[in-house]
Amino acid sequence: MRRILIIGGGYAGLYTAWGLERRLRRGEAEVVLVDPRQHMTYQPFLPEVVAGSIEPRHAAVSLRRHLRRTRVIAGSVVELRHAARTATIAPLDGEPYDLPYDTVVTTAGAVTRTLPIPGLLDTGIGLKTVEEAAAIRDRLVLAFEQAAELPAGPERDRLLTVTVVGGGFSGVEVLGEMMGLARSLVRRFPTLNREDVAFHLVEAAPRILPEVSDRPGRWVVSRLEHKGARVHLSTSLVSAVNGHVELSDGVTYDTGLLVWTAGNATNPVVARHSDLPLDARGRVTVGADLRVRDGVKVVPDAWAAGDDAAVPDLALSRDAAITTVPNAQHAVRQAELLARNIVAVLRGREPRPYRHRSIGVVATLGLGDGIFQFRRLVIKGLPAWFIHRGYHVLAIPSWERKAHVLAVWLVAAVFGRDIVALPQRTDPRRAFVTGGEPVPPSPEDSSDTTQDAAPIAA
Ligand SMILES: Cc1cc2nc3c(=O)[nH]c(=O)nc-3n(C[C@H](O)[C@H](O)[C@H](O)COP(=O)(O)OP(=O)(O)OC[C@H]3O[C@@H](n4cnc5c(N)ncnc54)[C@H](O)[C@@H]3O)c2cc1C
Repeated sequence: MRRILIIGGGYAGLYTAWGLERRLRRGEAEVVLVDPRQHMTYQPFLPEVVAGSIEPRHAAVSLRRHLRRTRVIAGSVVELRHAARTATIAPLDGEPYDLPYDTVVTTAGAVTRTLPIPGLLDTGIGLKTVEEAAAIRDRLVLAFEQAAELPAGPERDRLLTVTVVGGGFSGVEVLGEMMGLARSLVRRFPTLNREDVAFHLVEAAPRILPEVSDRPGRWVVSRLEHKGARVHLSTSLVSAVNGHVELSDGVTYDTGLLVWTAGNATNPVVARHSDLPLDARGRVTVGADLRVRDGVKVVPDAWAAGDDAAVPDLALSRDAAITTVPNAQHAVRQAELLARNIVAVLRGREPRPYRHRSIGVVATLGLGDGIFQFRRLVIKGLPAWFIHRGYHVLAIPSWERKAHVLAVWLVAAVFGRDIVALPQRTDPRRAFVTGGEPVPPSPEDSSDTTQDAAPIAA
């Protein structure tokens, strides 16, 4: 039986496997999906996980539960030798091993692209995984707890100063959601008020949200400023050593939390550890039918989709150099077509080209606020926020996840936002090891909310 190997179980990987399960006849091919995570991450919900409007687990869709006819391997592909039809897999535990295959689908997505800015790697945190979203939330809530007991001064200011670098959708959304969470938190801390909390959005381009046109983009800036954020346009982060931020516009301040959403890079397994042809940005080059191509030549038995693939955008242009933007809208639709095309080729039929016209963009700016644009139609504020919620609750895969998310929203509508955080989760054995003795937090715990609590040696 032919083996179809799917690398990555995110949007594109999950939907490809689903499509193949539906279309393949019994015995026609074995589908194997490899991912180090046991779930697909519904990334558009991460800002709401930060805000506490969605439970972290509900933004994760179990691969095993929903892929009934696919062999799911928990591990990472560390090398792909397509010429030899072999992938090397590092399992979660144990030695790496080689897995032969007949057809490969690369859907390993993108990773956060960092820059060599002093202090960034020590201070910052990205926003691509559920763990990062939960950690950002924990750190913000913990910062309030710490600041509430401090007198006004530089240390309290540092704890209550949040920086987001990157004015794309994820940066703007997480900023809006964190500001909303901060407003809810302030009400619970009598020693703090709204003026004590500072939010900075830093964007190197002269405007934010490249996916929306200029005017709505300017409206979002003024909206965020109206809510109390300071938006630094045409500005880049110069240094963040020990949380001391230096911006290229000359502004300096100390920050307790630095969220970095300033760019994507192709997953290294594709960009550096495979023999597939790549474009200048390290994405796998594919034709409109999603078969991997080296120039005009089809690379047999190799397919790619989603953020790790350079897919010609036929809806925009016939020029193959114009490729689809990396978003979930494309990843899902490409994956559905990819599954259909693989089966077509297996059965000796011609694959079909990918063509999808955007159905618009929508972003949350915090509870009850948002922006939606479809061509020249722009909707702002509460109606856009309803569109955001309505669209995403329908778009998250599986009915059980839709029901979970909806249930949490309904409960929050009655009882208000959940402000519980679990920062001790990073050090769960502390109580067990200390036998319940009160242990003062280590200097690291209290002085730097961007660091996880140091584990106690057993
Ligand atoms: C905060 C945030 C908000 C967003 N909001 C929106 C939105 O509102 N609308 C929208 O359209 N898009 C949005 N996006 C973009 C969208 O989530 C991505 O475009 C989409 O996830 C791309 O799908 P993908 O399958 O290519 O990659 P992913 O969904 O990232 O999946 C890649 C998978 O590959 C796995 N993997 C990685 N390395 C390996 C390896 N070596 N071996 C095996 N598996 C591996 C990963 O664990 C992951 O499961 C958002 C993104 C973020 C970060």
